[in-house]
Order: sequence, then C-alpha cells, then structure tokens
Amino acid sequence: MLTSEMIKEAALAAGADMCGIGNMARFEGAPREMDPRMLFPEAKSVIGMVFRIPRGVQRGIEEGTQFYQYPSMAYGGINEIYAPSVLYQVGQLIEDHGWEAFIYRNTGARGCVSDMDGSPGNTLSPEEQIEVMNQAKRKTAHHRSVQFTRPARPGQVPPDLQFQFRLAAVACGLGEIGWSKMFLTKNFGPLQRVAFIFTDAELEPDPLYSGKPLCRRCFACVRECPGGCLSRTESIQVNIGGKICEWGKLDEWKCYAFYTHGGPKFNPFVPKAVWDKNENGDLDLLEGKAAANEKEIMKVYRALEKYFPTWVGYNMAKCGGCIRACVSMLEKKGGCMEGRFKEPLRTGKAWVMDR
Ligand code: SF4
Ligand code: SF4
Repeated sequence: MLTSEMIKEAALAAGADMCGIGNMARFEGAPREMDPRMLFPEAKSVIGMVFRIPRGVQRGIEEGTQFYQYPSMAYGGINEIYAPSVLYQVGQLIEDHGWEAFIYRNTGARGCVSDMDGSPGNTLSPEEQIEVMNQAKRKTAHHRSVQFTRPARPGQVPPDLQFQFRLAAVACGLGEIGWSKMFLTKNFGPLQRVAFIFTDAELEPDPLYSGKPLCRRCFACVRECPGGCLSRTESIQVNIGGKICEWGKLDEWKCYAFYTHGGPKFNPFVPKAVWDKNENGDLDLLEGKAAANEKEIMKVYRALEKYFPTWVGYNMAKCGGCIRACVSMLEKKGGCMEGRFKEPLRTGKAWVMDR
C-alpha cells in the first residue's frame, strides 16, 4: 500500500529538500480559476516539495558583483531541471502503485487570469513582448494570461489552470507566508522554490504548520524594497484549511518593474546619465513619478533593455532586496534559518549607489 512516508522518502531521496502532504479540502474558498481541485476533480491529495535556493546564488547580488546566478540557478535551474526530475521519479512511484500522479512543475503565465495578480483578461509579459516586437513576424506575444482560452466542457474553467503555489505549499504543511508574501520554511527562510503532485491516492495529510511564527514581522522586507512596493500597514488575508495566512499588500506590477531593473540606486548596468536624462519620461515609474501599469512597465523595459542582456528566459533579478533583507534579519534575530550557516549573509551595510 502506498503511504505518505513512502512518498516523502522517495522525494527526499530524489533530491527534494522537504516534502509535505495536504488534502484537497484545504483549497476550499480558492477562486475557481485558480482552484487546483478543478485540475483533477478526483484528486484526494496534494504533495508539495521544497527545493532550496542556495544562499550563495544571492551572494553576487549582495556584494553587487554578479547578478546572473540567481535567475539562472535558482529560478531556471530549479524550475526547469532539478524539480521536474524529482516530480517524475515520485510520480513513477505513485503510478507503480496504481494511482495517478498529476505532476505540476512551476510554469507561470498560463491561466485565464494573470499569474501576477489574479486579474482576468489579457495582460502582457513586458520582457517577452519586447522580444516579440523585435521579431514581430515570427512570434506571438506572450502574456501573463492566456488570451483566448475558454472552457473545454460546460462547467469547467478555461485552461491552463494556474494555482497559487505559495498557498499550496502552506496547504501541504511546509511553512508559512511571510509579510513579504514570500513563502517561508524553518530551514530555508524565503530561499526555496516549490513543485507539486496531485494524486487520487488518499494519503495521510500533514498538519498545517503551527510552530513558532516563521515571520518576525520585522518589516525589513518593506524597508529594503527599492520601489516601496510592499505596504507596512495594509495586508491581505487568506484562509487555508483553517489557517489564516496574512501578508503585506504588494503592488505586483511595481515589483515586476523594480525587481528586474532595480531602480536608480540599485542598477549598476545603466549609466547615471540615462537616469538623469529620463528621456520621454520613460523611467518615471522607477523614479516614483508614475503608477505601475503595463504601459509604464513597457516604457521602462524598452528604455533599459539594451543595458543588460536579459533574454535568458527568466527575468534578470537586480533586486531581491526583500529576500536578502529577510535572510539577514532571520539569521541574526531568529525565526527560521537559525544556526544554518557559520557566517551571516550580511556583515556590513547593504550597498546603495548614488544613482
Ligand atoms: S522583489 Fe524587490 S521590488 Fe519586489 S517587493 Fe521584493 S524588494 Fe521590492
Ligand atoms: S523581512 Fe521580516 S517581516 Fe519581512 S518576511 Fe522576513 S521576517 Fe517577515
């Protein structure tokens, strides 16, 4: 008989850092367009796996010396290489026992609602839109949602359904959502990515995390966001299987602009004169003079794209301010990640440029 223990053992042996199991009832209340129960209605259990982001891939950003490793190793590497192979192997075990394994690797921008903020309709992915403009005759625009999707059968939601990964990780008992909206675990703080399997096997679920709060509510993430994207006072609350998850209200579009471009004081790749000139007001968003929306973000991307080779399939994170601030705070003051490293991520002050 297939048990939760067998699945966890297989997941860890295949390379996952943590594995937790939830039941599908924990998704009660999710918007239909993002409810994983719509994916595979017969599913009884969700298996969540954590893949650590090595702290060292943040080192170059922390020092201001190398910005490539985080998006390539932490985003691309885990999403595209490490996690899928583990999902595949655990899926084999499940199907060898006669149950189905609906494996769900990290995708992004595939649903009928935006994967950024859950809003319906047709929102663009600015970096890929630029690529499209450059090769207008050969490619189709990429969006944060699927443009013309519609239900395949009455009563269904339009494909491709994309659910909220961080909340699903909470539903698997793996950790909590921090004020930064990042998913936190005891061992790795905010440094992980997650992947899932839905199965019709009825597995013993793990309890939801109920230990010591993992988020210190220190608001270092708010203070160190170069764009002021995260509110200190306004919050969002969601109920997952009876556990209230709360995080600071995030301006996702603004974050999108800042984490890829850093802003005037956090992007060593753009000449100072470009910031000073702010031609046509293209950088107004990053200067805090315009609200973040698709139009303004496109202006930023168009104006700054040439200063850094972004086209690796993943956004080139130049920020990570909230993550590094969080790691630094948690390591020093406790909450999670305690005793994990011999030396702290940050020993002095974080760098900031005079433009
Ligand atoms: S990723 Fe950067 S821009 Fe986005 S909330 Fe964190 S610190 Fe702010
Ligand atoms: S920086 Fe502080 S408030 Fe923000 S998520 Fe981390 S522990 Fe929570």
